[in-house]
Amino acid sequence: MTPRTLALLLAVALLAGCATGLRIDTTYSARGQDSRAQYLVLHYTQSDFASSLQTLTEGPVSSHYLVNDNPPTVYRLVDESRRAWHAGASSWQGQTQLNAASIGIEIVNRGYRDENGQRVWIDYPPAQIDVVVALVKKIVAEHKIRPDRIVGHSDIAPQRKIDPGPRFPWKRLADEGLIPWPDAQRVAERRVEYEKRLPDVGWFQRGLAKHGYAVPSSDELDEPTKRVVAAFQMRYRPERCEGTLDAETAAILDVLTTKP
Ligand SMILES: [Zn+2]
Repeated sequence: MTPRTLALLLAVALLAGCATGLRIDTTYSARGQDSRAQYLVLHYTQSDFASSLQTLTEGPVSSHYLVNDNPPTVYRLVDESRRAWHAGASSWQGQTQLNAASIGIEIVNRGYRDENGQRVWIDYPPAQIDVVVALVKKIVAEHKIRPDRIVGHSDIAPQRKIDPGPRFPWKRLADEGLIPWPDAQRVAERRVEYEKRLPDVGWFQRGLAKHGYAVPSSDELDEPTKRVVAAFQMRYRPERCEGTLDAETAAILDVLTTKP
């Protein structure tokens, strides 16, 4: 074959390719499918809007949404069909591929400042929370995300992260019907029992694991276990979230992980 013939054959092949193209017939659709997004993860940015935006658009980390504080504008930085890189090494209910399986919302909030050895947490403005709630509702409705899969960064990475922090109003999400919440009456009843005798550390560890946390099964109140307890308390009992085991924490955990 001469070079000229080869060139001619290649040209014909290319033309044939162009003419045929690839056509995909979308007549049929499978019933067995659901959204890529099975989890929703909430964060605070720990910085102001300008530096949050820069970090999330130009750096290696990203999120689907960024919610400013003033005015409380919602910015979409990553399309929901694509992965954002917000979760890092993490786990919830045994799922460790959370970037692939979640939608991330970063909320502009400084987190805390330390003053004279005291940690002062920064409140979320009510107008910003209204916008976050509306956004969570929209995402949950579109992707059919389960209530027990709406979590904080501190829930999925309690050894590394404390955001969105104890000032994030999880109770408000519960009041909106978005996340499970322990019945106050049942908690009060169980608390009386646990004040008489506090369960051992292994009981707490098993309960926290059942609830979704990656927690040691050491039967000891070691530092990693304390961090998980603190993450749980930040969510359900934010007034005291130092990771100390007490009757109220036991009661909340019991009510959340057992049927009435
Ligand atoms: Zn985070």
